[in-house]
Amino acid sequence: MLGEMELLAKATTTSGFRLAVATVARPWRPSPDGGDGAEKPPSGDGGYNLWHRRSVRQKMAAKSEKGSDGMHGRIAVFSQPNAPLNLETHAMPSVQTGEVLVRVTCCTICGSDLHSISGNRTVDVPTILGHEIVGRVAVLPDAGPVRDLRGDPLHVGDRVTWSIAASCGTCRNCGRGIPQKCEQLFKYGHERLGTPIRPSGGFSDYCHLLRGTAILRIGEVLSDAEACPANCATATVAAAHRIAGDVKESRVLIFGAGMLGVTAAAMSSHFGADEVVIVDPVPQRLQTARKFGATHGIHWMPTAEPNSGDPLASLHGKFDVVFELSGAVDAVEASPQLLDIGGRLILVGSVSPSRPVEINPELVVRRLIRIEGVHNYRPSDLVAAIDFLSATRTKFPFASLVERTFGLAAINEAIDFAMSDRPFRVAITP
Ligand SMILES: [Zn+2]
Ligand SMILES: [Zn+2]
Repeated sequence: MLGEMELLAKATTTSGFRLAVATVARPWRPSPDGGDGAEKPPSGDGGYNLWHRRSVRQKMAAKSEKGSDGMHGRIAVFSQPNAPLNLETHAMPSVQTGEVLVRVTCCTICGSDLHSISGNRTVDVPTILGHEIVGRVAVLPDAGPVRDLRGDPLHVGDRVTWSIAASCGTCRNCGRGIPQKCEQLFKYGHERLGTPIRPSGGFSDYCHLLRGTAILRIGEVLSDAEACPANCATATVAAAHRIAGDVKESRVLIFGAGMLGVTAAAMSSHFGADEVVIVDPVPQRLQTARKFGATHGIHWMPTAEPNSGDPLASLHGKFDVVFELSGAVDAVEASPQLLDIGGRLILVGSVSPSRPVEINPELVVRRLIRIEGVHNYRPSDLVAAIDFLSATRTKFPFASLVERTFGLAAINEAIDFAMSDRPFRVAITP
């Protein structure tokens, strides 16, 4: 994360605060025995677990309030697609240098969680799903402060969100400023459960944050419903906007009026776009998008018969930016000709295998079109996401996108509702 960290250290956010590195720039990925790779257990001494317990007990004797030994929490375990999650109670891990145990207060179900549950997306199982998480710091390590993205030390009780992925800070990709593609990337809500249990998803009472996680204190103003999607949907859209560049007085077209699409509409509107056209096959979603800054909604079915008239045909060459957030290949294919000279096509939605698309290279060349992909995001995008949500919470009804809230014990009921009714978001509050 070095490039990013250097960038963060120099950056000043719209809130005026200076950013600093969150964590120690050292590899942290748990080794197969459960260690964090930073401190090695003595060889021939009964192995990591014995060493670890001794070490923790010594520390606990000095400062008993800092350990998490004796704490238990529930986790909802996903073991196979199209089967109920299983609620289990386990001892929570102690925290090592640079780590944090967070008490989850809310986790919203993201579309990718539903893709995992329905088997459309492959995940290593067993795992704890859920990555749009807000919580409070429950346990901090004895050794040294853990700092947030602003450089402030975290305290027990602080309300936090964190980057969906943790990065090592030392690999080639981290070094060249793309920590979201770290060679040792650890993604919350996506990692296989090991032994001992270290909860890394949001469908859980606690979440164990590793070193290399960009943690952000979020204060008390944003509600859980507003803040939860920040570290996935909002930060991803912030990354797409960073890459698209300034949209002031631009004409923007957005494919997909789901959570990403309405967020992109709100962000484009907030940052001064002249026109924000959103395209989706579901009329109700287009109506919702109007409340989030969309100036026009276009009902468009990618699979419509060729002779039924294409509502996009009259819009060719009209836009400065197209955000493709739907993942529909027909939308990707339709995008380049919608762009004006100097247009930017930002691809975000295509996260599963698809057929190849046809793109006219002459059109791309003659119109000076730039096409760029976005996957995951940088820590600075998470800051931008929280800044954006804080600045616009009275302007756009983000809280209304969470349509129902369930307790962790009702996780399967929550998933059934999310699958059947397809609301923008459903929240789980352990
Ligand atoms: Zn997500
Ligand atoms: Zn790395």
